[in-house]
Amino acid sequence: MAEQAVPTVAREWHLAARPQGWPTPADFVLVEAPVRRPGPGEILVRNAFLSVDPYMRGRMNDVKSYVPPFALGKAMDGGAVGYVVASQADGFEVGDAVLHGLGWREYATLDAEHAVKVDAAAAPLSYYLGVLGMPGLTAYAGLLEVAGLKKGDAVFVSGAAGAVGSLVGQIARLKGASRVIGSAGSAEKVAKLVDDYGFDAAFNYKDGPVREQLAEAAPEGIDVYFDNVGGDHLEAAIGALKVHGRATLCGAIAQYNDTTAPAGPRNLALAIGKRLRLQGMLVGDHAALQPQFTAEVAGWLRDGSLHYDETVVDGIERTGEAFIELLRGGNTGKMVVRLDA
Ligand code: NDP
Repeated sequence: MAEQAVPTVAREWHLAARPQGWPTPADFVLVEAPVRRPGPGEILVRNAFLSVDPYMRGRMNDVKSYVPPFALGKAMDGGAVGYVVASQADGFEVGDAVLHGLGWREYATLDAEHAVKVDAAAAPLSYYLGVLGMPGLTAYAGLLEVAGLKKGDAVFVSGAAGAVGSLVGQIARLKGASRVIGSAGSAEKVAKLVDDYGFDAAFNYKDGPVREQLAEAAPEGIDVYFDNVGGDHLEAAIGALKVHGRATLCGAIAQYNDTTAPAGPRNLALAIGKRLRLQGMLVGDHAALQPQFTAEVAGWLRDGSLHYDETVVDGIERTGEAFIELLRGGNTGKMVVRLDA
C-alpha cells in the first residue's frame, strides 16, 4: 500500500442539535476523531474543498426524504474533493484527485467505489463541486431535459446569482433563449447577472413584489421558469407563464427554514387554462446526461462563453458558518470551504 504521512486524528463536524427554523452555529460542533486506515478496496482522502448546499438544511430535520437525515452526534457528510493519501484500492494511487460524498471533515476513509477520479489539471479542483459537478448538472438537466428549453423561449430563473441559477441563465442564453430574466437578493448580484452573465433583465426580489417586477422585466410573459425559490417567486411565475409554459421545480429555498406551511402559490388553478407543465426534478435522475454535460460545459468554460463564480470560505472551522451564510445569500456563485489554503 502506497502511503503519505497522515495524522492519527483529524477534525469532523457533527450535528449537535436539529435547527428549529434558521440554523445557528450552536447546532454544529467540530470534534476530533481518529483517522481510520483504509482496508481492502478503500482509500483515504485528504479533503481540499467541502461543499455546502441548500439541500443539507432538509437533512438536519428528522424527516423521511430522498436523502436520509443527518444523525445527531455523528459526522455529517456531503460533497467533497481531495487527494488520495493512502490506497488499498486498484486503480487509485496516492496523489489522485477524487470527488466523493464524505465532506464536513478533514480526512475521509471510504470504499473507492464511492469515489470518482477527477482531472485536477483540466479545471480547478473546486469546480467539480460546482459548475462541473452536481449544481452544474442540475442546471443543465433541469433546463434542457426537464423544462425542454427550445430556441426562442423566454426564460426566468430565480436564485439567479447562485450556483445553479447562474448557470441556468447562461446556458439558456447559449442555447438560444430569446430573453433571460433573473432575480437575486442584492443590487450587486443583479448587476452581475446583466453585466457578467449576459442576462437581458434582472431584479432584486427584496425591492418590491416579485409579480410586479417580473411583469416589468418580461412584459410579454415567459415560456420557461426555473424555480430555485418557491413561494412568491413560483406564484409570480405561474402568473407570467404563457399557454403551454413549463416550469422546473428544482428548489424552494424561501421555505427551507419555515416552521409553518407556506401560503402559496395561490394561483395554481391558472395552470389548468394555460395547460402549464410544472415538473419537479432531482439531479440524481439525470446521470445519463453526465458525459454530454461535461463535454459541453467544459467547452464553454474553456472558450470563455460561460462565467463561473465561487465564494470561498477558508478553514474547516468555518464550515457551519459557510452553510448558514449560504442560506442567507452570502454567496455569489457556488459556496465552498477550502481546507488547504
Ligand atoms: P445557491 O448557490 O443558489 O445558494 C442559495 C441562494 O438562495 C442564496 O445565495 C440566496 O441568494 C438565495 N435565497 C436564500 N433565501 C432566499 C429567499 N427567501 N428568497 C429567494 N432567494 C433566497 O444554491 P444552489 O445553487 O446550490 O441551489 C439552488 C436551489 O436549487 C436550491 O433551492 C437547492 O435546494 C436546489 N437544488 C436542487 C437540486 C435538485 O436535484 N432538485 C440539486 C441542487 C440544488 P439571494 O442573495 O439571491 O437571496
